[in-house]
Amino acid sequence: MRRKGILIIVSGFSGAGKGTLVKRLTEEYDDYALSISATTRRPRPGEADGREYFFLQKEQFEQKIAENGLIEYACYCDNYYGTPREYVERQLDAGKDVILEIEIQGALKVKKQYQDALLVFVMPPSAEELRRRLVGRGTETEEVIEKRMCRAAKEAEGIEEYEYIVVNDDLETCVRKLHDLITAAHNTPGRNREFIENIRTGLEGEK
Ligand code: 5GP
Repeated sequence: MRRKGILIIVSGFSGAGKGTLVKRLTEEYDDYALSISATTRRPRPGEADGREYFFLQKEQFEQKIAENGLIEYACYCDNYYGTPREYVERQLDAGKDVILEIEIQGALKVKKQYQDALLVFVMPPSAEELRRRLVGRGTETEEVIEKRMCRAAKEAEGIEEYEYIVVNDDLETCVRKLHDLITAAHNTPGRNREFIENIRTGLEGEK
């Protein structure tokens, strides 16, 4: 039986460490393809076009929307962010598990289109730890930290839309947990409909 790829959505609060988590996961295991999003926000120092994001002008992004070239898109803090369709579909067809690291509005749009998608929410061990991490980064002003904490409080209301939470306490443990979750997800009946139908057909004459 050929293994079908699963679309995996990883969301989480700013500061929960989801970026590092998915990066480690894809480095450690060959089974995953990481989707690169398009965005209209400016590159941060050290970011490269086509590596962290495809950095587009607003008009180029709107053109992509018009061409149906994005699976989903959302506006986040005055910028567009979206998932290019072609890469995702090609990788899924090739049997790869594709990871989208996206925020909650986009996650819910994907869930409507891909019923078999696996939705995972990355949590910090506590709210205090989240604040500590945001402060510890040293890259954000007090005002931005407050904004992100406020957004976290709002996003926390939508966590039940996700199938699983993973707590990012120790990074390596969290990477393994996420990999185990995905491995288990491959074995649900809903994600093996064709195989189950084949067995049923083979058993038809036995009734
Ligand atoms: P940042 O600007 O910090 O890189 O990302 C801001 C937020 O946008 C993060 O929560 C990130 O997960 C989310 N994001 C990144 N790419 C996409 C995307 O393609 N679609 C959606 N809906 N959100 C995205």
